[in-house]
Amino acid sequence: MPPAAGGPRILLRRLREIMAEQASAQTRLDKLVMLIAANMVAEVCSIYLRRAGNALELFATEGLNPSAVHNTRMRAGEGLVGLVADTAGPINLSNAPEHPRFAYRPETGEDPYRSFLGVPIVRGGQVYGVLTVQNRAARQYDEEEVEALQTVAMVLAEVVAHGALFDIAELDEPELRPDRPRAFRGEGFSEGVAVGQVVLHEPRVRVDRLIADDPQTELKRLDEALSSLRASVDEMLESSELDLTGESREVIEAYRLFAQDQGWQQRLRDAIHTGLTAEAAVERVQDELRLRVARAGDLYLRERLHDLEDLARRLQRHLDGGEGGGAFPRDAVVIARALGPAELLDYGRNGVVALVLEDAATTSHVSIVARAMRIPLVGNIEGITDTARAGDAIAVDGETGEIHLRPPPEILDAFEMRRTLVAQRVAQIAKVRDLPAVTRDGVHIRLMMNAGLMIDMPHLVESGADGVGLFRTELQFMIGQTMPRLADQTAFYRRVIDAADNKPIVFRTLDLGGDKILPYGRWEREENPALGWRAIRIALDRPALLRYQVRALLAASAGRTLRILLPMVSDVAEFNAARALVDRELERARLMAQPQPRQTLVGAMLEVPALMFMLPQILRSADFVSIGSNDLLQFVFAVDRTNPRVAKRYDALNPASLTLIRQIVQSAAEAGGELSLCGEMAGRPLEAMALIGLGLRTLSMQPANIGPVKMMVRSLDTREVSQFVEKLSGRTDHSLRTRLAAFAAERGIVIR
Ligand code: PEP
Ligand code: MG
Repeated sequence: MPPAAGGPRILLRRLREIMAEQASAQTRLDKLVMLIAANMVAEVCSIYLRRAGNALELFATEGLNPSAVHNTRMRAGEGLVGLVADTAGPINLSNAPEHPRFAYRPETGEDPYRSFLGVPIVRGGQVYGVLTVQNRAARQYDEEEVEALQTVAMVLAEVVAHGALFDIAELDEPELRPDRPRAFRGEGFSEGVAVGQVVLHEPRVRVDRLIADDPQTELKRLDEALSSLRASVDEMLESSELDLTGESREVIEAYRLFAQDQGWQQRLRDAIHTGLTAEAAVERVQDELRLRVARAGDLYLRERLHDLEDLARRLQRHLDGGEGGGAFPRDAVVIARALGPAELLDYGRNGVVALVLEDAATTSHVSIVARAMRIPLVGNIEGITDTARAGDAIAVDGETGEIHLRPPPEILDAFEMRRTLVAQRVAQIAKVRDLPAVTRDGVHIRLMMNAGLMIDMPHLVESGADGVGLFRTELQFMIGQTMPRLADQTAFYRRVIDAADNKPIVFRTLDLGGDKILPYGRWEREENPALGWRAIRIALDRPALLRYQVRALLAASAGRTLRILLPMVSDVAEFNAARALVDRELERARLMAQPQPRQTLVGAMLEVPALMFMLPQILRSADFVSIGSNDLLQFVFAVDRTNPRVAKRYDALNPASLTLIRQIVQSAAEAGGELSLCGEMAGRPLEAMALIGLGLRTLSMQPANIGPVKMMVRSLDTREVSQFVEKLSGRTDHSLRTRLAAFAAERGIVIR
């Protein structure tokens, strides 16, 4: 077997010199294949790069017919080159023509060559092309040769990914340029238009220096970084602040084992021995792992990939000599696969201008928080985290779901125009702010707003809402690092009440669980968190939590009316048990002669379908009921509100939901109880029109929706709409949206 002349390190050094030359991309590639062929004692070396439609085009060759360059194109999956790209792994054959996937291309003149080694040119899990060597003699390439070719391919991938090969016109294919503008369409979950720069929630570290000057120095750097990484993971595990137990501790323990894994460390060292810097070695080993996971479908690895990616990122930061990333730009658009509401709140404090997620659904809490914070959010954009690079310009339209990455100037102009139009609409809506929400036939509709943080409170005046119909108290708990103390809670509620300036506020007690997890405390992972230990269930199992919160609310509401709303009530007994806790706190305040509210009203959220059948009974115990349509519909349709794959399977304007709400309204009216609705559907003018048609007179929504809904209300006749909605019952459409929209258009009802 002929030895590789000069070894991979010398090859890499030469490669770096060639890449730094001022020559054209084609000249550099031509030199490169010559160099590789000579270094590996191969008669042929070829570079195939991906073209539009996934075809692989011969870009440079040493040994094959030069006229085949830019003429030979392998279709996706065609030939051995296609196989390397498909499997994203090396193919090493001593007799290539015998392989069933071998595709003969006479124009290349490859007849005499029997042995074949092809490796993918891959970066960040994406295959950019294939690098091959061939020899006449039938021989199997040894492990070192495969390694060396992979290392070269990695360097090449970096060059391709940075667009360095596209400097000559005939090779310039816009579709291939990694820095080309890209447009995506997802779903808009929070309105607003923003232009800014990309901040990746989990950034891929960009490795600028790939080829090592001195491998010993790199090995030393790696060892130092590994030991500081291990120390920081140990510290994380020991940290009493995190209070890790059960499953979460196991997860971190597993993480620690990965950090100590000898196999991983050895692979990193091996990669350095081939001539890479420590950073490039981490990247290379991580790339291999990603591909192994993608190919082998190894479930265990797949689940752990997230941890390993995280570890690799940390290791890169240790190599970098620091833990922190760069400064947070003022116009940051955060891009993530998924994000929890607490993480968004954290970003919000840093002044994020928009959010783009691969996952999300309209009623997921991150969407609700985004709307509350007025941060445009677009979700369901597959692959955006791999395509976007930190610092890229990006334009986001949270209404249409349009995203433009690296937008050309015309798109930026169009977005400017959209921004102006949005501002005009805002101005139009502001005009109705001080007008009453009264229908054409004189019916007053109470339009309340949903809130959860102090930053929401100024919206009460700006939006002209009649009060706060749902104050999600858990949000305040989610943004802190520790459980707020009684005095802090009291002070916070007092500030909220003062900010409301005598308008009513409905404080919902802690609705934790589901996707609302506190960053502190003990949380066991549950199979079905939406059906799990959440809201009032936690309150009844941990009564101190509810009692403290009620104590704070009572103290903050001294001399006024306090409205408390209990979330996720399933039956009357549960409500009564929680109400008894409220009563005990009232009694305690009385005995201790503390100031008390003038009146304390306790309501139940109707979110669990079972409670619908107990409405007359619950209205004897509860002072009011508020329909939480987000959860109620998720349970009625058996559709997980946080799962974007199914969240759109039903429409809130399905005949079943309208029939259901009508029955709730009738039943509440017969029992003489106060009823409202505070789910997301209340804030959409068309849905709100249907709800009014069904008899609802109090709706609570995001403050930004008050204006549009009020415009709808003022253009509506309740008698006409209820007659129309009445006629719709019994229909079997998947959604009544079109019929309702046609009705609105015909009657001149403003639904936009
Ligand atoms: C609801 O479920 O409709 C609701 C208002 O509560 P949340 O969205 O906070 O679960
Ligand atoms: Mg709910």
